[in-house]
Amino acid sequence: MILPEELQAGRLYLTKDHPYLAAALWALQPVAKADFGIMAVDMYWRLYFDPEKVSRCPVDVVAGILYHEICHLLRNHPERMKDLDPRLSNIAADAEINDDLLREGVKFPAQPVTPQLIGQPENLLAEEYYFALAKNEPARPQEGTTTQGADGKPADKDYGSRQVADDDFDSADAGEESGRPAGKEQERFSAPGSGRCGSCATGRKADWEDEAPGKDSAVGISKAEGELIRRDVARQIIEHSSEKGRIPGHLARWAQAKLNPKVDWRKKLAAVIRYAAVDQTGARDFSYSRPSRRQGQIGGRDVVFPCLRSPAPSVAVVADTSASISDGMLAQTLAEIAGILKSLGQREGVHVLAVDAAVGFCRKVFRPEQIRFAGGGGTDMGIGLAAAARLRPLPQLGIVISDGYTSWPDAPPRGMKVIVVLTGDGQAPEWASCIRI
Ligand SMILES: [Zn+2]
Repeated sequence: MILPEELQAGRLYLTKDHPYLAAALWALQPVAKADFGIMAVDMYWRLYFDPEKVSRCPVDVVAGILYHEICHLLRNHPERMKDLDPRLSNIAADAEINDDLLREGVKFPAQPVTPQLIGQPENLLAEEYYFALAKNEPARPQEGTTTQGADGKPADKDYGSRQVADDDFDSADAGEESGRPAGKEQERFSAPGSGRCGSCATGRKADWEDEAPGKDSAVGISKAEGELIRRDVARQIIEHSSEKGRIPGHLARWAQAKLNPKVDWRKKLAAVIRYAAVDQTGARDFSYSRPSRRQGQIGGRDVVFPCLRSPAPSVAVVADTSASISDGMLAQTLAEIAGILKSLGQREGVHVLAVDAAVGFCRKVFRPEQIRFAGGGGTDMGIGLAAAARLRPLPQLGIVISDGYTSWPDAPPRGMKVIVVLTGDGQAPEWASCIRI
């Protein structure tokens, strides 16, 4: 597909100052469409654009829209907001993003939703803005599928109405102001940053969006792929900040939170090493297998002191990928696996098994990007542990990351210590040490 020059220029404009966003920006799948607004992005990372309108849009505004919509996807608004009223969700999610972007001087096609505009303090989460908005909202007949109030008239607090304007940037079109669509009709038009961004903000299909990816629509990006892109961007941000500095605060904080495991794996794994060493030899594991640096002389003769060896334990991670696991939990699972890999050292990989009621993925990985989370069915972590016990050499440590809503076997596999990391409110078996996060 040939993209309008302005869209290509907008991407370059954005990556010039934000090179770490490139992976997200180039993952967007352009879909040309007419009569819905300038641009919009859905939860499958499909970028709708009206070629005619984009070609009349200033490049810094195109870049601003792309930046704003990517922020929805990076912050995982589709997953966070999907159970809430989509109209209020979109306003709340926009308020969460826009105070950060306005501080950077980002340009919008029309008046963006800001915390101030909805009478709220800055720097809150979309969920907080949402519940503040919902409290002030008059009762509605149906959950968020219309912008009309309970009496059938347009609701008072329609923040979208003052911002529609895909033509605000073009004075030649300013005369259309009075003829703008209102209420239900308005929902056919996107207003990026101004309360109508579509499913990238709400997790619910907007009127202008294609059906879910299938044979008749652009393929889009799956949830698992999306998570890998988010991790990639987060890594780029951390790298960029250590080399060249100057990252907007909101992105730096987001990247830190995205990549950091909640468990102190260095401590946990060190404890396992101590346990294994004591268990097998009754004492610390002194070994001559590698020469000690403390070579020296005693009585004029060269001697080699035994070195205290701390072999990294062999680890298998059983990741619960059943239907009850949310995207957020999967993201945390990836962060924990990254933490385990880091604590084990560069060369030690771990076996990762993605398990629902069957093993969907099993291989040794050295980087979290090598993991493919399959699954989405029922849950049996016993099957995952049994599969881990068939690996050779037998892993010394099995780490199960699960919400705990699963059946467990009566005992751990022979010769394997098991740690259960609970990402939900379920239960771990008595025989495992349990970490709740
Ligand atoms: Zn938005």
